[in-house]
Amino acid sequence: MFDTLSDRLTAALQTLTRKGKLSDADIDATAREIRIALLEADVALGVVKTFIARIKERAKGAEVSQALNPAQQVIKIVNEELVGILGGETRRLSLAKTPPTVIMLAGLQGAGKTTLAGKLALWLKKQGHAPMLVACDLQRPNAVTQLQVVGERAGVTVFAPHPGATATGASAQPGNGVGDPVDVARRAIAEAKHAQHDVVVVDTAGRLGVDEELMKQAADIRDAVEPDEVLFVVDAMIGQDAVTTAEAFRDGVGFTGVVLTKLDGDARGGAALSVREVTGQPILFASNGEKLEDFDTFHPDRMASRILGMGDVLTLIEHAEQAFDQQQAEKAAEKLSSGQLTLEDFLEQMLAVRKMGPIGNLLGMLPGAGQMKDQLAQVDDKHLDRLQAIIRGMTPAERADPKMINGSRRLRIANGSGVTVREVNDLVNRFFEARKMMAQMAGRFGF
Ligand code: GDP
Repeated sequence: MFDTLSDRLTAALQTLTRKGKLSDADIDATAREIRIALLEADVALGVVKTFIARIKERAKGAEVSQALNPAQQVIKIVNEELVGILGGETRRLSLAKTPPTVIMLAGLQGAGKTTLAGKLALWLKKQGHAPMLVACDLQRPNAVTQLQVVGERAGVTVFAPHPGATATGASAQPGNGVGDPVDVARRAIAEAKHAQHDVVVVDTAGRLGVDEELMKQAADIRDAVEPDEVLFVVDAMIGQDAVTTAEAFRDGVGFTGVVLTKLDGDARGGAALSVREVTGQPILFASNGEKLEDFDTFHPDRMASRILGMGDVLTLIEHAEQAFDQQQAEKAAEKLSSGQLTLEDFLEQMLAVRKMGPIGNLLGMLPGAGQMKDQLAQVDDKHLDRLQAIIRGMTPAERADPKMINGSRRLRIANGSGVTVREVNDLVNRFFEARKMMAQMAGRFGF
């Protein structure tokens, strides 16, 4: 899922990385690419429009960041907006103060509710809960048996409307009310209290399409069990239909959260990106396979970076922002423009860059002193250690005024820092070259 979307978004954003400065036309062109990518992925039109408008507005009005180049800034904005569309913060399951917590599952037939009941039960069990599953899907032949099978696989109790039907033998009574899902639900809650199950998961019937009877039944079950959570289960492969179905369930039953299933499929995934924004309800879980373990809490931030396919870049952007020291950068910029950069500043800049992680990852992402990129491109981490040792082997006066580093001083520094005189020479020469180049560039770009 999301492969094509991911490829297209990455391509749209990568064009920007080659540019030093972004014009409004660049931003419009990128926004257009992103728009096409989202529409092709089946994201609902309304959602796409809002998304693109926000990206444009933020990118054009973006304050000039000291830490990030323009392309990085746009990537950051797109990522933040994606996280927002997916719900922002991770939303956890809310548990009742007085158990049992009642979770009701609703959705179309085939959405994956019964499978989800088993997944949820196993997940809850691993967290130390004692869940009970309740079979209220009495429409579909075999639904009850199917729930019993997943319950057994998860090793949890299943409350079902006919004798001998539960995993632990706590079967419901035959006779009165059998066949009535509302009654089954009601009795299940009583049984859960009695047997001290702290979470009850109620599986309900689905239809192939949305219909009134289905909605009414789900609403009746809801009224009977007063659930703490109603989870709308939706197959991420159904594309645009996900949105209409979600709206129908929102209006007919109401729900507190969404579970996306079949995220392992190769569909375009627009449902995943639309449902939250359209219904206003958060996505709580994601299901991505037929096995009971293929299930996890939904994290909007992780999903967004997966969609952007830029996990590493986003981490770097974060680090760059954290490592960036405004005062130090301003000081360096001032010295740069006047050709006054000292080896001390050079060392400080290197250390700031190092705070962000291995140098190999950072090229092209450098904050502030981006002009040092080419210089740094020639070094690896080990080399950087040696450069650092050399500079540390100099006296403060030498660092401040590298011109005074003559032959005998070079020999002393080399001996003191365990390197050859040639390495000291290289560093000093490269430093002078860089300083000259930077002063020229500073003059040209007017900072
Ligand atoms: P229900 O009618 O809503 O109860 O749906 P089911 O739980 O019976 O699921 C319908 C079909 O989808 C079954 O064949 C499941 O094995 C399959 N299924 C459910 N969840 C997933 C998932 O996350 N990934 C995949 N690939 N298949 C799933």
